[in-house]
Amino acid sequence: MFRRGAEASAPTRRSWAIAVAGAFICGFLVAAQVSAGSAQGQTTLESNATFLARLAQAAAAIGPDEVDNALLPATQDDTLPDGYVPPDLVSLAAIGIPQRGGAYLRQVVLPDLQDLLRAAREDGLDLWVSSGYRSYFTQVNTYAYFANARGMDWADTHSARPGHSQHQLGTAIDFNSPAGFAASPAGLWLWFNAHDYGFVLPYTPASTVRTGYVYEPWHLRWVGRELAALMWEKGYLESSDLIADDYIALARNTLLQDGGLSSSPSPN
Ligand SMILES: [Zn+2]
Repeated sequence: MFRRGAEASAPTRRSWAIAVAGAFICGFLVAAQVSAGSAQGQTTLESNATFLARLAQAAAAIGPDEVDNALLPATQDDTLPDGYVPPDLVSLAAIGIPQRGGAYLRQVVLPDLQDLLRAAREDGLDLWVSSGYRSYFTQVNTYAYFANARGMDWADTHSARPGHSQHQLGTAIDFNSPAGFAASPAGLWLWFNAHDYGFVLPYTPASTVRTGYVYEPWHLRWVGRELAALMWEKGYLESSDLIADDYIALARNTLLQDGGLSSSPSPN
């Protein structure tokens, strides 16, 4: 498990280290390619096959029941099914999970969330859930509040329109987010450790250009530990080519194709 302390520049320094390591590896691969001819193409094919096998394994671990639940696309372009309400919503207060405002989440998320909170607590961090499930109608009010207070341009980069919020899935969490959360010990801890507990950060500095939303270091979405681990290994946090939404769509498509499952038609 990779853990870091409170260092404001940690993600940047780590990016630099990855870039240096990547340049070294690329240089090595180019040299190997020169001497090995078509071996590089073979290596790429093999790594693609390995990736797809891992993806299929991760998707299977999440399970076909989640094709029309946790794996539903919820983006600025993808609308959730009309009237979607997740199954198995649970009151966090009723089971003693630290929260404010009467938050609910899906039962399927809770074992991983409890493990995450326990590990964070052992590392001296005070995390609590400030927002979990939000219904379509709650999101109507949330979006309208920001649109009225700050204007629609601001609202559209900071808040999902109704029917487009990951919070409507019941598997997304906003943690308490004081000013400067990204560089705070809790923010850095989530960046480096959330994947160990099946959660990912969909809204990163790199993904903004694709998602349309600003960096939200306090917003996590549950995807299960195997998919989260694969995404972490592939560097999703630093990528704008393969962002969290892409992996979730790939996993969902894998289940739809492999299982021969039918899905409700996309409202888009
Ligand atoms: Zn959120």
